Amino acid sequence: MLDKVVIANRGEIALRILRACHELGIKTVAVYSTVDRDLLPVRLADEAICIGRAPSPESYLNIPAIITAAEITDAVAIHPGYGFLAENADFAERVEESGFTFIGPRPETIRLMGDKVSAIKAMKEAGVPCVPGSDGPLTDDDKLNLKIARDIGYPVIIKAAGGGGGRGMRVVHSDATLLNAISLTRTEASAAFNNSMVYMEKYLEKPRHIEIQVLADGQGNAIHLGERDCSMQRRHQKVLEEAPAPGITEAQRQAIGKICVDACIRINYRGAGTFEFLYQDGEFYFIEMNTRVQVEHPVTEMITGVDIVKEQLKIASGEKLSIRQQDVKITGHAIECRINAEDPKTFIPCPGKITWYHAPGGPGIRIDSHIYSSYQVPPNYDSLIAKLIAFGNNRAEAIRRMRNALSEVVIDGIKTNIPLHQELIQDANFKQGGTTIHYLEEKIKN
Ligand code: ADP
Repeated sequence: MLDKVVIANRGEIALRILRACHELGIKTVAVYSTVDRDLLPVRLADEAICIGRAPSPESYLNIPAIITAAEITDAVAIHPGYGFLAENADFAERVEESGFTFIGPRPETIRLMGDKVSAIKAMKEAGVPCVPGSDGPLTDDDKLNLKIARDIGYPVIIKAAGGGGGRGMRVVHSDATLLNAISLTRTEASAAFNNSMVYMEKYLEKPRHIEIQVLADGQGNAIHLGERDCSMQRRHQKVLEEAPAPGITEAQRQAIGKICVDACIRINYRGAGTFEFLYQDGEFYFIEMNTRVQVEHPVTEMITGVDIVKEQLKIASGEKLSIRQQDVKITGHAIECRINAEDPKTFIPCPGKITWYHAPGGPGIRIDSHIYSSYQVPPNYDSLIAKLIAFGNNRAEAIRRMRNALSEVVIDGIKTNIPLHQELIQDANFKQGGTTIHYLEEKIKN
């Protein structure tokens, strides 16, 4: 087992990784920016090192500082969490070149999947069903681009190959706006992701977002842990997730799961990963692969009993997967609400001091959070402050437990989106299950 791990992240995921490390007897090094001195993982880690000032380019994205932290603490591995450097192939490469283990896939896999055009190509070759699209990057040939769009059939969506976080996408409904949309997306993509490559896909009008969690050891073994439904989104960002996805049958789960597992083996995938699909009219369409632990991983943990972060650590230690596909049993239902420090109506971030915090509890309730009474939420990072997870023996029980937990939790001093979750959890269509990726935005509008 790894001896000492640097946790190159902050907030709830740093704490989640720290807990998994300590459970496995692994020593931890927290790295933090100057505004994060009082962060819970910094206090709980065996060692902590300040790596720079608050702006993330100077700290959590500061590759030399993170590698130096590993060097001076004699750590053997670096866990990137999600966000920040988690899907930065250059970082993974630098980590390995410096003699440390990167807790994640090989750099070349991250690079392959980080470019959505190459990811789709690789997945198509591996037999994964993809959205009908441009089969590669768009060129500057206007005539050809118009032809591609007509052949696919409007509406289409122009997407940045290097895009992420729900940015760099534009829906086009007719010839009239296509060329302008391509050039706008290109300009934005080049500014935001330093990569002007764009591609085109059929815009699915009423899909659900369903994703498959995989684990692979890079030694020829891979399994899937079933699916999650992440259709509750605002601006292409997930708000509430659940597992299993309502209405997906065991046969569908095993069929799409096997396709993902086979693809993992084919590309010699290593670590935890997620195949993201849009699901419409009974068909799955691959959109991208995330080569890291995801925010919503707890719902899968709750229904499978598999600790995904511990599995990441074991795989990085060189262990073979100890769980076989036939050992993976899905029991009950789990829902996660992402609690953000933001105005529940305008969605404007609301950093500031949490004057009072009271966590909910009871059977089936899990909270992954770094906050505490008197914690100051800094304005510099993502507004996610807690993940509230409710498990039930069935979906109805999970919903009732979540409703109770949302009414128990107290976060005073700042605004949060808890009121939105309270409304969602008793929404008639949500209760029925299977709403599309557009549902939440339409609901908010009304
Ligand atoms: P990101 O990497 O920014 O998360 P994705 O490719 O995963 O981008 O897409 C994010 C979200 O955008 C999806 O969950 C879905 O809501 C929407 N989306 C992406 N592609 C399509 C498509 N072809 N048709 C309809 N919606 C799409």
